[in-house]
Amino acid sequence: MKISTRISLLFSLLTSSILILFGITIYVFESQHQFIDFQDRLKKRIEITENFFLEKESFSTSEYEKIRSQFLQTLPKETEEVILISNGTIPTFNQTYSDELKEKLISKNAHSFNQGEIQGESKQFNIRGETFLIIVTAIDDIGTQNLLFLRNRTIILILLAIPLIFIFSFLITRRSLFPLSKKIEHANNIGASNLDQRLKVLNPNDEIGKLATAFNKLLDRLEISFSAQKSFISNASHEMRNPLTAIIGEAEVTLSKTRTPEEYKATLIAILEGADSLNSTMTNLLQLSKINANEEGVLFELVDIGEFIIITKKSYDYLNPLNKINLNIPNRNLIVKINKNLLKTAIINLFDNACKYSNNKEVDVNLEQFNKEVNISIIDKGIGIPENDLQKIKAPFYRANNTFEYTGSGIGLALSSKIIGIHQGDLIITSQENIGTQALVILPLI
Ligand code: ADP
Repeated sequence: MKISTRISLLFSLLTSSILILFGITIYVFESQHQFIDFQDRLKKRIEITENFFLEKESFSTSEYEKIRSQFLQTLPKETEEVILISNGTIPTFNQTYSDELKEKLISKNAHSFNQGEIQGESKQFNIRGETFLIIVTAIDDIGTQNLLFLRNRTIILILLAIPLIFIFSFLITRRSLFPLSKKIEHANNIGASNLDQRLKVLNPNDEIGKLATAFNKLLDRLEISFSAQKSFISNASHEMRNPLTAIIGEAEVTLSKTRTPEEYKATLIAILEGADSLNSTMTNLLQLSKINANEEGVLFELVDIGEFIIITKKSYDYLNPLNKINLNIPNRNLIVKINKNLLKTAIINLFDNACKYSNNKEVDVNLEQFNKEVNISIIDKGIGIPENDLQKIKAPFYRANNTFEYTGSGIGLALSSKIIGIHQGDLIITSQENIGTQALVILPLI
């Protein structure tokens, strides 16, 4: 069931129930009021009857009846009787009352009662040592008619109001939720081809506005990751195709005619270089996807980071004996929790970038402690990174546009950043084109 239908139904049922309850309450109050009011009138009748009875002896019976009918406005179907109840005989009642009621009338000084539609009042009084019982009964015809009128009108009004409540609550709910339906319609039309579209936010403070804003923010994030994925695929295929094209081209040209052994050797060397580059790209890529898939399974150990940097530098010396990296490690016993193999890969990548993009100029590596962190900065005086590229430099396969003369695949920084991330650390690259670059690795200390 739609939310709008559910809200409308609930609201209508609740309002209708309240209306019916009100109708019943008014009817009950009114009938009680009428009963009490009629009972008061009966009491007054009793008083008058009592007074007349006391004065009765001054008039003859016919005179008495004449005065009574002339001066007393009687109630509908009124009956009156005055019965002597103190001479030891069983009193005889003119009207028919139940035995239980008769007992009450005799035993109580004053009593209000009703038998079906008949209402009655009784009162005892003493005169010259005798006890008399006055009983007055009547039917409240007007009251009953008024009550009937009230009941019928209330039922008619409620029956008219209930459909109106349903109609209006459906209209109001639908109108209130109309912007939501519009937004759902719009959201349904947003897909991969028009991910740049956003929902209109008319009132950012109401619930629908907040929902639309949250949805738009979700679209922002999706768009960023979608375009990152797109550029990842295009960059990856580009990086794979370049060495492959070089390998195929080299082989085809060489095979086009017979060559000297030296020419074949040169071709094989070129092919090997291409294959090497492809191999290193694939290795880095595999490592990156392995880390992504098994982040939780990475094992850590406690290591003195100063010692670790010195050992890593020695490993890098084998790869690039021409490097001019100066280590500045004043602090020892700075213990960090790392996976040695992974962090070595990350640091060697950063060393290699610093040396490669500065053509093996001097590179300073400093180790400093800041509160509960250790900072490893790798500073070179190389080609630097253009400002426009700086933000995107950590994305896989992204290379700045000043690196045409340098070999590389653009996967190293993405891998290093990922590795440092799983060490709860951070990699911050700052750079100025043609001046130099600083790669700052921040790791938490134990
Ligand atoms: P690559 O294999 O291209 O070096 P990386 O992922 O290691 O790939 O680096 C990505 C890009 O970042 C590089 O192509 C380069 O444009 C830029 N870069 C990284 N480090 C440096 C640096 N020290 N100096 C200048 N540019 C750098």
